[in-house]
Amino acid sequence: MTEAKRPFVTKERIEELVKKYPTPFHLYDERGIRENARRVNEAFAWNGGYREFFAVKATPNPAIMQILREEGCGMDCSSLTELMLCERQGITGGEIMFSSNDTPAEDFVLAAKLGATINLDDITHINFLEKTIGYIPETICCRFNPGGYFEIQNTIMDSPGDAKYGMTKPQMFQAYRILMEKGAKEFGIHAFLASNTTTDDYYPALAMQLFRLAVELHEETGAHIGFINLSGGVGIPYRPDGHKPDIMAIGEGVRKVYEQILVPAGMGDVRIFTEMGRYMLGPYGCLVTKCIHQKHIHKEYIGVDACACNLMRPAMYGAYHHVTVAGKEDAPCDHLYDVTGGLCENNDKFATDRWLPAINVGDYLVIHDTGAHGHAMGYNYNGKLRSAEVLLCEDGSDRLIRRAETPDDYFATLNF
Ligand SMILES: *Cc1c(COP(=O)(O)O)cnc(C)c1O
Repeated sequence: MTEAKRPFVTKERIEELVKKYPTPFHLYDERGIRENARRVNEAFAWNGGYREFFAVKATPNPAIMQILREEGCGMDCSSLTELMLCERQGITGGEIMFSSNDTPAEDFVLAAKLGATINLDDITHINFLEKTIGYIPETICCRFNPGGYFEIQNTIMDSPGDAKYGMTKPQMFQAYRILMEKGAKEFGIHAFLASNTTTDDYYPALAMQLFRLAVELHEETGAHIGFINLSGGVGIPYRPDGHKPDIMAIGEGVRKVYEQILVPAGMGDVRIFTEMGRYMLGPYGCLVTKCIHQKHIHKEYIGVDACACNLMRPAMYGAYHHVTVAGKEDAPCDHLYDVTGGLCENNDKFATDRWLPAINVGDYLVIHDTGAHGHAMGYNYNGKLRSAEVLLCEDGSDRLIRRAETPDDYFATLNF
């Protein structure tokens, strides 16, 4: 079988890069990021107020944020340091959505200081926020959790009933009334009901629920609904045979529901927001790593210089990440390998029982689709250091956008 999925970087380019940046490192493709962001904006251009707020947690790097900002995106933050990433780049006000949960007081303080749009995860956060910052902002959003199961055409996509996020429907009505009494003037609705969905029906089905709720909320409380935030959850095909969501079809699907539900209710001015992370960045990053050992015991093992500390998804969720051996894109996949990192944990495997071309020590492996929730989920277990991040620029040049950690970084927080 030949490869259906090709890396955005060639073996020759990798060999140049490793002279400057030792493996492992995460590599990002500026061209891919920009082209995709433009398609997203085009898909929702029918909505005059549309905006994608990039989920910063997916790839919290200022260089990446800057590219997306240039393409018109705002930023979705969920923690103090993510807000600080915005602050240091001069991103403020309506450019920031603050969607967090179990929120510490200091996070609300900075969100309010920056003028971010605050998305409340719980009804009790109304009092908590008011006590913390001394007022209720005029523009405010509430996160909805319908409970039960989220189904599309009788297929269960996820179970919001088990999720810790958001408010129940009765709480949404109550929250809006309380917030209005406390001076809120413009409202948003937010919900995140399923993750990594590759069906084109997810956003339209979610939009249908949220638009109906918006009409009810508006009619019963009189609240002015300014925007509806469809949040994240649009997936990417991690497997070579996976379906790539058709963002134009998704945008069109949301438009139809908008015309069907909001427009007849006199709510044709509602702005649509999204808060995607994975769809914006996932395919446009990869982890470049080198084979440093081969081991033949009960199975065949390829030991690479990256480990789960550089990419946690396979170890944490058993997630599939496609692997390409650089320069062997068209070689037959006739060897069965486990590709492992060096953690003292047997789940530190990037691939298990994977058919790949014959691999030699010194070969470079490209682990695909690490642009979102890749480096970001890194950690220091076993004393492993987090890797560099490198940007492959549109003009073909490369730029170090985060250096690799050194032992000094590791020791910096210790007290000897
Ligand atoms: C994680 C997250 C996102 C982004 O999710 P993706 O699956 O990466 O699109 C958006 N909004 C919130 C509140 C999140 O927690």
